[in-house]
Amino acid sequence: MKNLLKTLIITLFIISCSNEKKSNEINLYSQRHYAVDKKQYENFEKLTGTKINVIKANADELIERLKNEGENSPADLFISVDAGKLYKASKMNLLQKISSEKINRNISNDLKDPNGYWVPITYRTRIIVYSKERVSKEELSTYEDLANEKWKGKILVRSSSNAYNQALMSSIIANNGSESASKWSTSIVKNFARNPKGNDRDQVKAIAAGQGDLAIVNSYYIGLLLSSENPEELNAGNSIEVYFPNQGEDERGSHINISGIGLTKHSPNKENALKLIEYLTGENAQKLYINTSHEYPVNPLVEPSNIVKKWGDFKRDSLDLNLLGKYREDAIKIFDKTGWK
Ligand code: FE
Repeated sequence: MKNLLKTLIITLFIISCSNEKKSNEINLYSQRHYAVDKKQYENFEKLTGTKINVIKANADELIERLKNEGENSPADLFISVDAGKLYKASKMNLLQKISSEKINRNISNDLKDPNGYWVPITYRTRIIVYSKERVSKEELSTYEDLANEKWKGKILVRSSSNAYNQALMSSIIANNGSESASKWSTSIVKNFARNPKGNDRDQVKAIAAGQGDLAIVNSYYIGLLLSSENPEELNAGNSIEVYFPNQGEDERGSHINISGIGLTKHSPNKENALKLIEYLTGENAQKLYINTSHEYPVNPLVEPSNIVKKWGDFKRDSLDLNLLGKYREDAIKIFDKTGWK
């Protein structure tokens, strides 16, 4: 009896130790590729003593990994720079709903997931930038107008294999229908200044070098160029102006996407994971994001960085961002069919 009791106590002790160890960490699967993230996690670790382990890969790889690991997955959180991938993970039953009053209060209402599976931590808009020397603002209006012949040989944009372009095309399908999106893509391809290559920043550099007049890029890259210490980048940033498309009264607003977090279905450290989401959407972390990466804050109490603020306010497309995932396959088909490499 005494021995049995002893064994029981030892067993309980081991269980409580292993729980202790478990409950003091968070495992993140993240697609984000920005330096500011490391700083955020260090700050959270200092504040709470909770260790954050990060595994970085592209979104589809992380989703595949979550699927294969199933119930045994060590992952607590899945972070993506695309609502479409979070939607995909939720559809594959890899996420659980997040319900927290505190987190809810931190987020602007129109940026929330209507289904409750993901929480945005920042957002970005895919804008048009134009050469200060060769284009005037009055010539610009909408994404749709980029199909106009007047832009022949002038548009710079990266490859269609990129998630940012896929999300933009998904939004055009969701708003205008597949047929219209397909026509738009055909015309845009005719207007390309060159075959798609490079990343968003390279398109801006190409404007500075006179290789084209307009580029379609994510907003924060302009903030990064304008705050860069590299003269080539700074010069590229200064060669262009920012334009928010589709701002007219009866237009839908500029396309946005979020960087967001989902709580995994089998999260072993759920309580800590929720605390991290709460932290990342809180005022301090939001300020750090926007001042370092020049993304837009999701917390209404925080303003964009000084550089970004100068561009002024804009109307965002209020589309349910889950549709960016729903129409992803269609978007890729349209790109292939219309020769957007
Ligand atoms: Fe990016």
